Amino acid sequence: MQYDYLIVGSGLFGAVFAQQAREKGKRVLVLERRNHIGGNVYTEKVEGINVHKYGAHIFHTNDDAVWKYVNRFAEFNRFTNSPVANYKGEIYSLPFNMYTFNKMWGVVTPEEAAKKIAQQRQEIQGESKNLEEQAISLVGRDIFEKLIKGYTEKQWGRECKDLPAFIIKRLPVRYTYDNNYFNALYQGIPVGGVYQAHRKSP
Ligand SMILES: Cc1cc2nc3c(=O)[nH]c(=O)nc-3n(C[C@H](O)[C@H](O)[C@H](O)COP(=O)(O)OP(=O)(O)OC[C@H]3O[C@@H](n4cnc5c(N)ncnc54)[C@H](O)[C@@H]3O)c2cc1C
Repeated sequence: MQYDYLIVGSGLFGAVFAQQAREKGKRVLVLERRNHIGGNVYTEKVEGINVHKYGAHIFHTNDDAVWKYVNRFAEFNRFTNSPVANYKGEIYSLPFNMYTFNKMWGVVTPEEAAKKIAQQRQEIQGESKNLEEQAISLVGRDIFEKLIKGYTEKQWGRECKDLPAFIIKRLPVRYTYDNNYFNALYQGIPVGGVYQAHRKSP
């Protein structure tokens, strides 16, 4: 058989491209090396729970057309991603915002939080020589020690002192009481999981 497109990989990109091409009457062949479609955006049912096999995926967009498009295929819940970090039993909101700073230092206003960070940043003078110095120069030692160090060292398998400074260019800091990880207008997770989601007929 002749095809108009050969698509290697059925991740979000390949799958959307294939669907759109088919809708326009093209012939498409998709090759996938895994035993499922969806790429990293994939859930498996384990004891009745939808487990995001390759890491949690929350769909988010500001684009009306994109949101309408994905809602053709699945029903989305109203999940808002508001992650927390557990540092030795202390729970902190991420990304760093006023809830984080209030818990860390008891500060209440953005001015107080900004002042605290500015004080702690002064520890590093001149150019940062490694990731530890770079992080402290951006957000200060307390945030580095509690919310960056352990996570980063686990991720890279090396001490922050042994990692280059350029890995962290900037660290988002919000001076608002807002735990919503994404700024997007629309966000959610398909009800019933991804791929095996309660499928709507497009
Ligand atoms: C832990 C984690 C969490 C994330 N969380 C979010 C989130 O919350 N929200 C969000 O918007 N994004 C998130 N992302 C990013 C998101 O996963 C990617 O942007 C998206 O999956 C990219 O889609 P893709 O189609 O480009 O690639 P992939 O999903 O990687 O798909 C590529 C596919 O191609 C296949 N393939 C590759 N090579 C071949 C080959 N030679 N032959 C056949 N098949 C091949 C692979 O098996 C795979 O199925 C997250 C990523 C990770 C890793």
